[in-house]
Amino acid sequence: MASGIVTASYIIAAVLFILSLGGLSHPETARRGNAYGIAGMVIAILATVFSNQVTDYAVLIVVMLIGGTVGVQAARRVQMTEMPELVAILHSFVGLAAVLIGFATYLVGLEGFHGAERTIHEVEIYLGILIGAVTFTGSVIAFGKLRGKIDGKPVLLPGRHWLNLGIGVACIWIGSGFVGAQSTGTAVFLLVLMTLLAFAFGVHMVMAIGGADMPVVVSMLNSYSGWAAAATGFMLSNDLLIVTGALVGSSGAILSYIMCRAMNRHFLAVIAGGFGTSGGGAATSYEGEVTSVSAEETAELLREAKHVVIVPGYGMAVAQAQNTVYEITKSLREKGKEVRFAIHPVAGRMPGHMNVLLAEARVPYDIVLEMEEINDDFPATDVVLVIGANDIVNPAAQDEPGSPIAGMPVLEVWKANTTVVLKRSMASGYAGVDNPLFFRENTRMLFGDAKQSLDAVLAALHA
Ligand code: NDP
Repeated sequence: MASGIVTASYIIAAVLFILSLGGLSHPETARRGNAYGIAGMVIAILATVFSNQVTDYAVLIVVMLIGGTVGVQAARRVQMTEMPELVAILHSFVGLAAVLIGFATYLVGLEGFHGAERTIHEVEIYLGILIGAVTFTGSVIAFGKLRGKIDGKPVLLPGRHWLNLGIGVACIWIGSGFVGAQSTGTAVFLLVLMTLLAFAFGVHMVMAIGGADMPVVVSMLNSYSGWAAAATGFMLSNDLLIVTGALVGSSGAILSYIMCRAMNRHFLAVIAGGFGTSGGGAATSYEGEVTSVSAEETAELLREAKHVVIVPGYGMAVAQAQNTVYEITKSLREKGKEVRFAIHPVAGRMPGHMNVLLAEARVPYDIVLEMEEINDDFPATDVVLVIGANDIVNPAAQDEPGSPIAGMPVLEVWKANTTVVLKRSMASGYAGVDNPLFFRENTRMLFGDAKQSLDAVLAALHA
């Protein structure tokens, strides 16, 4: 294929990716956004496959078949609750690809480059491998934490800031030796050394981050994977990869900023780690009576209420209760009650997790409100249903300056007339902090799996 056609195809694909990002910013246009993304990716792959750069089709077909099969299998098997882990592991693939392409480019792709051009290429390779390696191990640890295979508690090594600084300085120093190194052997040795340090940095950085800060880490690794892809684009002189990587990198950075704001945290403080530990103060355990209710009593409370707010959390995703939530919403609205949803920015285990589930269950978008839009309305609410949410409704964030989640904005559900919390036990949420909400006078606990409890509430409402 002529290089002009390839360039034109890349421009069209880049425009489609931008339109895709625009579409994905709202549930109503998300389907269209996805279609743009798919179309862009098909054009990008076809243009690359038929470009003059590809010389060995046998290898290409084999790797595309392997990659395609793994992708299809992962997409078919993954449960909605496992989506955050899938995203984390996909980020790690991007990181690893950047590392491998970096080494390959250095070993075979630098012939013919001399002087300043060679130096620029070496810097690109060095940075690509550096970002890729941090993304790779950081994402693997994030995967382990999200899956529960690695404890969510931060691991804080003594003098960790000095350690990070030391690794940073060492990477710059090694880089200055790598650029313009006289022998290939020395250069590869320095590259391997830096890669090992970057691997260690990725592990150390994410291990030091506590449970409640994980949303920022996930979006930050998303951003890193974009920059790693952009660096790969520079190494391969592929304009589309540079543009796409920059889009992912910058949108991930914006998302990290939004997540930090949602949690009232400074980005650098999150990276430095330690949030959600005894560093901020020990988590208090609460003792006292909790009042439990039955599904029938909950239905009775709902029947008497005029204004109802539903707060979904990670437990709704685990129980796959969204369709029953929709049925209850429909039933209450038919009875003339006002039902709205309150969405905390870090509810669930990935940005937009709850919005996706509610959209899947066909809950109308206009009754799904963000935290800032609804938080002042709780005092005028008769009943709040907290469905499998915990950290995002924990009053300790406001009341206890020593709490590990102190300062994180939360949904003020305790200000409503009655708050019904659906969960299976008294266990704490992802941040590992106990919740005094359960002991409040106007709180009722409906223990059990959220789907089963809500099915029973729906049956009682219809009875
Ligand atoms: P939490 O993890 O705080 O609480 C979820 C609650 O759901 C648990 O206490 C659990 O209690 C309950 N639960 C689990 N399974 C069921 C079930 N089948 N039926 C009923 N209840 C169930 O979730 P939140 O949504 O409140 O908060 C999100 C947390 O995750 C925050 O700490 C956030 O920082 C973190 N996080 C968010 C990410 C994001 O991007 N949104 C990414 C990574 C982390 P029990 O076991 O008693 O049933």
